[in-house]
Amino acid sequence: MRTRPVDQASATAAARRWDALPQHAKTDAQLIGRRSTGCEGTHGVFPACDFACKPCYHSKDANKVRIDGAHTLAQVEEQMGFLRQNWAPGAFAQLIGGEVSLLPATVHARALEIMHAHGRRPMSMTHGDFDEQYLREIALRRDGSRRFSSLSFAAHIDSTMFGRRGAQKPSTEAELDGHRAAFGEMFDRLRREHGVRSYLAHNMTVTPDNVDQIADVIRSNRRHGWRMFSFQPAAYVGSENRWREGFRTMTGDDVWTQIELGAGRPLPHTALLWGDSRCNRTTWGAFVGDRYVPVLEDDDPADLRTRDAYLHHLPGNYLAEHNPAIKLIRVARLLILRPHLVAIAAGWASRFTRRAGGFRALIRHGVNPVTFVMHSFMDAAVVAPAWALLQKGEIADDEQVRAAQERLQACTYSMAHPETGEVVPACVQHSVLDPAENLALTQLLPLPTRR
Ligand code: SF4
Repeated sequence: MRTRPVDQASATAAARRWDALPQHAKTDAQLIGRRSTGCEGTHGVFPACDFACKPCYHSKDANKVRIDGAHTLAQVEEQMGFLRQNWAPGAFAQLIGGEVSLLPATVHARALEIMHAHGRRPMSMTHGDFDEQYLREIALRRDGSRRFSSLSFAAHIDSTMFGRRGAQKPSTEAELDGHRAAFGEMFDRLRREHGVRSYLAHNMTVTPDNVDQIADVIRSNRRHGWRMFSFQPAAYVGSENRWREGFRTMTGDDVWTQIELGAGRPLPHTALLWGDSRCNRTTWGAFVGDRYVPVLEDDDPADLRTRDAYLHHLPGNYLAEHNPAIKLIRVARLLILRPHLVAIAAGWASRFTRRAGGFRALIRHGVNPVTFVMHSFMDAAVVAPAWALLQKGEIADDEQVRAAQERLQACTYSMAHPETGEVVPACVQHSVLDPAENLALTQLLPLPTRR
């Protein structure tokens, strides 16, 4: 029944995912296999992009593939249907490939509908350089009625990208703040005028050139409606023509320190783990005025007990239920069944309120939820041998390749291959599979020849 606290399909899929995790990832903090099966993304559905980023994770043939709505929709249907069969409903899935706004708006909207129909929670991954009219054609039907009650977009906006209208070759992140604000304002107007809500994530590729600008990006933009700030340290993957020297002179700690400066405090990231900590660091929390308050402090035993109770009693993707009323009923039923959780929840709420500066601060400033993420892709040079050996069931002797294998086994971001029956990590997709896949697509969907 839909109002049961634990959705059985989600819990079963999560348990399968847990069984497949490598031992080092099975910690009390792990979310994969308990609260989620992980995130998903499409591939090969619209490989082309009209920007030139350095780096770019897509293979060099991607821009030789024609955008073709019928192909996009057929592939989205197959890939999402496969994920629905193999993993439970409720997973977050990115509509990603090349640049999503090159799709006609009606095709973009239809792709999102297909993803919803397969129980996915779609997020469109874009460079953000599209007109407001395009957004409205996705969100609204011809008669002006809402096609979606809410939309989710991840906008990749940073100074490694070339081709943005009004900022063709930015040399600093600050030059892009106006574009970041304008992007958020489009969605704000959509909500005010048509009641379509949004979840906006800000993505930034980090290189040694812009790492020290992270803190200012957060400070300048955190009031503009972004619910997530996600940072990807640059990796040597995708088109070699777009690589630059020095990506590996910067460590994950260097990047995270800058994120903490932007947040205005240290960010606890070990209380909850999303896969392997070498791939992902995440802090969930909220700004209350200028103060960032994490959901969990990783050095507070009471917070860790709260986490343990939450993960133990709510396996599966229950929060991914669309209907807020059903979500509430699920939680209410759980609390009736396990009344001791009420005291645990009340204790957590009281600690959160105290850390936020008290009840008055909550009333005065409100709660502005913001998640900080660092997702560190791996270099193709280690992913290729790691994956080849994993497919043979072998563990690498080389320390770096073995580390890559451990990370691939705990991967949180996967792509479906119905034709082979596989679900592969995005690192494998971009490092190993994209070149041949895109080459084949250049034959299937050649660009129109010029007369
Ligand atoms: S895509 Fe790569 S970096 Fe990301 S979680 Fe998977 S293995 Fe780790």
